[in-house]
Order: sequence, then structure tokens, then C-alpha cells
Amino acid sequence: MTATDTSATETRRFEAEVEQVLKLVTHSLYSHKEIFLRELVSNASDALDKLRFEAIAKPELTAGDTDLHVEISFDKTARTLTLRDNGIGMSRDEVIENIGTIARSGTRRFLDALTGDARKDTQLIGQFGVGFYSTFVVADSVTLVTRRADLPAEAAVRWTSAGTSDYALDTVTEARRGTTITLHLKPEEDEFLDAWKLRSLVGKYSDHIAFPIRMAKEKHDDDAETADVEIETINHASALWARPKSELSDSDYTAFYKHAAHAYDEPLAWTHNRVEGNQSYTSLLYLPTQAPYDMAFSGRDERKGLKLYIRRVFIMDASEHLLPAYLRFVRGVIDSDDLPLNVSREILQENKLVAQIRSGLTKRTLDLIESLATDHPEKFATFWSNFGAVLKEGVAEDHGNRERIAKLLRFASTKGEASTTTVSLDDYIARMKDGQDTVYYITADTFAAAAGSPQIEALKARDVEVLLMGERIDEWMMGYLHEYAGKKLRNVAKGELDLSKLGAVDEAGEKEADAAAKPVVERIKTLLGAKVKDVRASKRLTESASCIVVDEYDMAPHLKRMLKAAGQDIPDSAPALEINAQHALVQRVANEADEDLARDIAVLLLEQAQLLEGAALDDPAAFVKRMNALIAR
Ligand code: ADP
Ligand code: MG
Repeated sequence: MTATDTSATETRRFEAEVEQVLKLVTHSLYSHKEIFLRELVSNASDALDKLRFEAIAKPELTAGDTDLHVEISFDKTARTLTLRDNGIGMSRDEVIENIGTIARSGTRRFLDALTGDARKDTQLIGQFGVGFYSTFVVADSVTLVTRRADLPAEAAVRWTSAGTSDYALDTVTEARRGTTITLHLKPEEDEFLDAWKLRSLVGKYSDHIAFPIRMAKEKHDDDAETADVEIETINHASALWARPKSELSDSDYTAFYKHAAHAYDEPLAWTHNRVEGNQSYTSLLYLPTQAPYDMAFSGRDERKGLKLYIRRVFIMDASEHLLPAYLRFVRGVIDSDDLPLNVSREILQENKLVAQIRSGLTKRTLDLIESLATDHPEKFATFWSNFGAVLKEGVAEDHGNRERIAKLLRFASTKGEASTTTVSLDDYIARMKDGQDTVYYITADTFAAAAGSPQIEALKARDVEVLLMGERIDEWMMGYLHEYAGKKLRNVAKGELDLSKLGAVDEAGEKEADAAAKPVVERIKTLLGAKVKDVRASKRLTESASCIVVDEYDMAPHLKRMLKAAGQDIPDSAPALEINAQHALVQRVANEADEDLARDIAVLLLEQAQLLEGAALDDPAAFVKRMNALIAR
């Protein structure tokens, strides 16, 4: 080792969560132990990418050593395996921050996924890798010597740990920039002291790394005399996305996904394209299988996973500039031939070329999702259950692609299986009834509440399908979707419901029924007074006694409640009540001579409707009292 010690050793404890991870890792089964090499090579490649980027503004960083690469070597006698990169390196603070704490994404996600069941958690290590700490699966001690490219030789750092509870830090002198990691292998891990084995692992996991990974050629007994060691490159060493599709296998794409997206799941699908024209770029976009842990709504602004390269130089993670928010689950790389190397986020925001790339990538992504929907229904179902709610934002936000996105939507339906979201608008339209020109849907707090809504009874009775929407975003999204494929979309809980086109409506009979219902409607209106905005005889109800309706352009009550709960200032307004004049309870109001009793029943009709709609009653105690009094009579 060229590093020389110039300071006293400082011993530090790992952050508690790091200890937890280390324990798990070191006590784990050995079925996935070889992934440590993939993790180390991946880190080295990231460090080389970072250096190349910083060197755009500061070329002196690479001066004298422009051959960016990774070297692997081993020493059978000392039982050590060494990985060296001449990348960006780390300062002392960065070592403490990056290797001693858990702020990093990969490990954080791993911790979140832990179940507490040792056997399952052990398997997670295989899936997640948990980065640098994987080294302790095969090593009983690890030494990392690193010097940041912009710091002097004397500011290098040596970090050593046995992977238990603490690590040691020294300041050392190291002439070469970058990072050298030396693993002292556990007694039973001799297989990693073998050139053939290492070479095959690099081929399996790291072939796609864009920098050369080099190793000494295996010496045979007969050339033991040769003084010079022949070094060779053992990976493909070119940017994977720049290679022709025909050369790449599924496992190449998968390995690259895991590296580029820092992901530990398998990609669900990908699309790899080269665009030539007034500007040229290559894109390789992936749909993940699992939702990244940070994809929640709060993650809309700090999106990650789409890397921007310019002529093979990694520039930055630029997901928020290259894709709309509703496609924030997409992972991959874009490599532009035309953008200037010194782009900043500000430039990206305004650049016309970027806007073109963005719309191109949006199209590609929608193409990819569409092809899943048509050709791989099972994969599409996985996609939909993990990302459907995010994609729905696009209906509101991407006017230009609204129809395409709407085509991808899947809903639960009165004709589908309970609460499985598999019905598309096209499915619905294909089985519409003769004369039906409208797609009917209902939104509620949950699928079950939607399915049990009294407002859909009349349609169900006429065998007309109703889409059932129970996701938070549905009511907001549907506010932007009034038409699809020439058909109107209509919330059945809102406004007047016109069933005349659906046949079996006897207009004269209806008029007569309306007239007959008039006295009881008026009576209930009087009894309820200011509690309601209006009372009407319903065309929606066949079984239930009553339901709440809102005007066609009003917000659904459950959305109002949600916004209120979120602290928004939503004015209270009395609901409109529809009643089923045929229902026994309604008829009792009509015929009840006792005014107080009639009022109690009328209030119950209102409260029932509110409960069915998912609202909490203003005065539940009074409701129970009234109910009990009626039952006891
Ligand atoms: P991740 O790669 O997911 O961030 P790792 O555990 O693999 O997690 O690495 C932790 C961090 O340590 C990296 O993010 C990086 O900042 C730093 N690091 C690891 N290896 C190197 C290296 N060879 N050169 C520079 N920094 C490194
Ligand atoms: Mg890593």
C-alpha cells in the first residue's frame, strides 16, 4: 500500500441503523454473497462518472491520469481482494457520511423493507445488495483508502472496519486520486481469489459498466519467468445504451437497470431507441416492477432515476426535466448528442431541445405501457396496481396525451369482479346498451362504498354498467375527463339522471309518478327545513329509501371532506336529498299523522343517505336516540 500514515487513528461507532444492517448482512445465508463484487464495481463506476462530470468545469482534476478505469487484483497469500478506481474519491467527511451513516437510498429502502423475520430478511439482502456493506458477507475486514480528486495527497483517508460496531479512520498520504478497497477474505471464501471466478462474475453482473474493468491475465507455470504482467479488460467497457439492440440480451438490460437505477427489483419492461434528426439522442427507459419507496405524492419534486448523459458523459439525474411528473416511476438513461456539456438545471428548464426530448420520451413511455396492455396483460396488471394511481395524474396534467392515457385507465365495475380494477373505457363502450351514449361512473371513499352507493341502483336495475371508483385521485381526475372516444362520461351521483335513452321508460307513467310523489316530497322538504337544499323524487333509486345528490358541477362530498381534512377552507352547504317514493319508510312519512314522528323519520332518511355516502353525522348521539325510539315504538 502506498498510503502512509500521518495521524493518530480515530475510532468511530457506526450509526445504530448501520449496525443493524451489518449484523443482518454478516449473519446472512451465503446464497447471494457474490453480489458484493457487483456493488463495488457499481460504486466505482459511479465515482468515475462523477469525476468525469466535475472535470468538465475543472479539467485539472483528471490531468495526468485521464484513463478512467477500475482494476481488480488479488493476493492468494495475503488472502486479499482489491478493487481500485481512479474516480472522484471521498474526503474525510464524505467517508463518514457515506459509509458510516444510512442516509443513502439503497440501504434506507432495505431497512424499510425489513420484516423482522430473519429468513425473509436474509433473502432481501440478495435482492437489495445493500451496497458497500455487502463486502462483509465475504470479508472479515475491509480497508478503504480514498483521496478526493480535488484534495492534496496528504488529505487522503484510510477507513478500516471488521464490520461489527465500529470503524477506524486515519489521515494518510496517497498520491493517486480515487478509491482502493481491500477485502481480507474470510477463511472459507477462497473462491474469490480466482481469476476465472472473478472474470465470470464481472461478465455476469458488470459487463455493461461503461468504463474498462481490468485484471492481470492469469499466469501459467510455463510463463512464470515473464517479468511483465499482462493486463486485460474483462468487461465490454462501452456504454450499454450505445450498443446495438441486436447485441444485447435481456440479462444485459436487467443488469444495467439495477446499476443505473440503483434498483433491486427486476424491470417490468424497457424500450431502447435511437432518435436521429434535427437533434439526436438515445434513450433507454425502464418500467420498474416495484414502486420505488420514494414515489409517493410527496416525491413529485425530488424525482430520481432518469440519468442524463451528454455524449457519454454523465451529467445529472434529470428526471424532473425529462419526463412529466405522472411518469415519475420511469427509470433509465438519456444520452444527447446536441446539448452543451455545461448545461445547468436552469438551462434544462428552458431549453427547446430538452422540451422536444421530453415530449419524445413521454410518447415512448406511453407506447411502452400501451404495448404491455395489449401484449402482456399480466405485466400490465402489475404495472397498473403499482403505478396506476400515478399515471392517473396525467389525465389532468397532460392535455395533449389525455385520450392516450384515458385508454390505459382500468376501473372496477358493476360488471367486473369485486374491486379488481380491470375494466377499460374501451371494454365499457364495447358492451354499452343499445341507445346508451354515456359512460356512467361513481366515485366514493372506497370501492366498497362505490359499489354500495344507492345512486347506482336504477342503472343496475336496467343492467347498465357503472364504473366504480374508490381511489383518492379519481374524483379529481374525472374532473378533467368529460369525454372519451366520442362518449360522454357522467358521475351518476351528480345532477339529473336522464334514463330515457336507456329504454323501458314510460314517460307518461313517470309524470304520473312524479305528480303522485309531490305531496310527500313537499312534506319532507318542510320537515327537514334548512337541513337540506332541496328534496326530489328520485329516478336513481330502486331499493334504498334515499340518497344524497350534488349538482353536476359540484364537488363530490367525499372530496370535500378530504380537502377539509387537509385544512382547506371549504364552505358548508346543505345537501340535496332524493327520495324513493315507493319505499315503505317514505310512505310512512306520507301517511304519518303525528308531526314529530314524521319529522324523526324524515331526518332518518337524510342521515341514512349521509351514512351511505360515507359522511360522518353531525350528531351521532341524536341519530341513535331517534333510531332507538322508533324501534321501541
Ligand atoms: P449507494 O451506491 O446505493 O449509494 P453504497 O453502499 O454502495 O450505496 O455506497 C455508499 C456511498 O459511498 C456511495 O453513495 C458513495 O457516495 C460512496 N462510495 C462508495 N464507493 C465509492 C467509491 N469507490 N468512490 C467514491 N465514493 C464511493
Ligand atoms: Mg452502490
